[in-house]
Amino acid sequence: MATSLYIHIPFCAAKCSYCSFASFAGLEGLHERYVDALSAEIGKCASVAAQVEPLRTVFFGGGTPTFLSGRLLKKILTGCSSHFSIAKDAEISIEANPGTVDVDKFTLLRNCGVTRVSLGVQSFSNQELKRIGRIHSANEAIRAVAAAREAGFTNVSLDLMYGLPQQSPESWQYSLETALSLGPQHLSLYQLTVEEETPLARLVENGTLKMPGDEAIAAMDEITLELTGAADLPQYEISNYARPGYQCRHNIGYWENREYFGLGAGAVSYLKGKRLRTTPDPLHYCNLLEEGSSVIVEEEVLDCEAAFRETVIMGLRMNEGVAVRGLQERYGIEYVSYYGDVLQLLVEGLLLEERSGFLRLTDQGRRFANRVMAELV
Ligand code: SF4
Repeated sequence: MATSLYIHIPFCAAKCSYCSFASFAGLEGLHERYVDALSAEIGKCASVAAQVEPLRTVFFGGGTPTFLSGRLLKKILTGCSSHFSIAKDAEISIEANPGTVDVDKFTLLRNCGVTRVSLGVQSFSNQELKRIGRIHSANEAIRAVAAAREAGFTNVSLDLMYGLPQQSPESWQYSLETALSLGPQHLSLYQLTVEEETPLARLVENGTLKMPGDEAIAAMDEITLELTGAADLPQYEISNYARPGYQCRHNIGYWENREYFGLGAGAVSYLKGKRLRTTPDPLHYCNLLEEGSSVIVEEEVLDCEAAFRETVIMGLRMNEGVAVRGLQERYGIEYVSYYGDVLQLLVEGLLLEERSGFLRLTDQGRRFANRVMAELV
């Protein structure tokens, strides 16, 4: 039974140059209609699910959820709590862009039950922010953290990206040190990947922007390990670091390949072995809900072996790894005989190990995580 809910808000104030997510700028006229359609989908989903267990995590992602007005955010949050049963100690997270928040909006979110804020800061260099088309400055990010604190949030996560165009290891160090000086409970640190057909890809292709080379990236990785370790923010997943007790429970559900509801345009649900995707077009999404039709446009059925392999791959993202007994109980598959020689080679190559009942990447394996996972998928 799913006990996690993801809600997608596909609107942004402007499109960042690297972004390939289901998000749209310039659709402000659709916000109200979208929230009404989303409220209808929330009601429908809750009645079909006829939930037995309360939700333990709710996550508002995007897009930029905080680009919506406080009134519309309140409408969605109230809709969730009136249709779904939500555990008293549930983790309720919202992604926020520093250019779209202030103390009043954070206070409203807090009063509506939000417990965790994830701020998309990306860099503390104004030049770097400009190059990737972010709408905010470094100072606005610092003010946003202060505003979240003033509103009473004690669980604040900051997202930063490294490997930005023209970024040096020194500049990455400056951004990370500045982030740490703000005392976050959680950090998400992602390497920027240049996605095809984005404006950034064109700027890199035509030589206007230069991406850092492998050596610079390796130096940034070293800086990350050193600074997060010294700041008592240990890594618990390939891109995530947290103070003890502040790991993101919602995302851990994804990495454990647990079921979840996903609502909103372009959202994905994972229920009863099926992955269901809604239409990514917000206008189409509104039209479908208004005429009482289903918004699901894609359905993928995962057989037992496919689900097993996904659980292994996703679980390996976490430093703790994947519980071997849990794998056997969920899928009736014994991983050693299933992977055979492939596994043996990875273990002998000191990239994978089983320790205390968990199959996990070694420190060395984490550096080559993509290659290891490609072998196991
Ligand atoms: S704020 Fe996030 S979702 Fe919106 S355009 Fe930028 S990267 Fe994409």
